[in-house]
Amino acid sequence: MLLHAHLLPEVLTSGCMRVVITDLDGTLLDHGTYAYQAALPALGELERAGIPVVFCTSKTRAETAMWKQLIGNRHPFIVENGGAICVPVGYFADSIPTAVRAEEFDILKLGTGYSELTEVLATASKQSRCRVRGFASMRPEEVASACGMSVEQAALAQMREYDEPFLVLDVHRTEQLLAAISEQGLSWTKGGRFFHILGNNDKGFAARTLLDLYRIAAGQVESLGLGDGLNDAPLLNIVDVPILIPSPALTELQLAVTGGRPAPFGGPVGWNAAILNYLAQARYEAPR
Ligand SMILES: [Mg+2]
Repeated sequence: MLLHAHLLPEVLTSGCMRVVITDLDGTLLDHGTYAYQAALPALGELERAGIPVVFCTSKTRAETAMWKQLIGNRHPFIVENGGAICVPVGYFADSIPTAVRAEEFDILKLGTGYSELTEVLATASKQSRCRVRGFASMRPEEVASACGMSVEQAALAQMREYDEPFLVLDVHRTEQLLAAISEQGLSWTKGGRFFHILGNNDKGFAARTLLDLYRIAAGQVESLGLGDGLNDAPLLNIVDVPILIPSPALTELQLAVTGGRPAPFGGPVGWNAAILNYLAQARYEAPR
């Protein structure tokens, strides 16, 4: 049922399709430099095997589209910590109910609107007497320096729809702030650089929804997930093979993820090694 002919050989030869779902920052992209070149050998192998690589990130749609173009990825992607799933038009043979078409994508919106997020963050900050600095109040130059990216990339990062990243200024009152967010019915999570306020959505629910679309199209699917932050735990907990990319959050992540396998190195070097190792094993093992 899949339209993409390049996906079919993998389905036909193994009887089970495989899908890789990966975080970007600190995982496929180096935390400091955003370089991904160390992962090119594994990306090439996945391409040859017809295994789709799905980006699942806290980045915005505009930012992720830029990285997809740079890396040469044409598969669906998940943005803003599970806020939306973007599927290239015509990728799946069946149309996706409730998806909204924008440019060349069918978008499945799962998150809470941005204005509600920023309002609740302001209220929670006031209630908890904990000052914060969110993306909405930062100039592109400030985001660029906080994230180590260009001002142009920072402008794309600020085109937010379902997730507001913020810094906590009064660190000793973090707990009170996060409790105030929860009391107002919204969620929070923590990425490599920022806390995030978001609705009742996460990377795991979005990934599960997208995997269901692959299953409708291709039958049995084995999923592999890679991530380095606490915000990746929901994703890593719903995939068949969870790979933890080492970062300062590794211990915390290991506690949050059942059966997680740490990669041997951090960032794209670890990503490359973990994928090549998985592919070598998959060649000998019958799919589950
Ligand atoms: Mg990350």
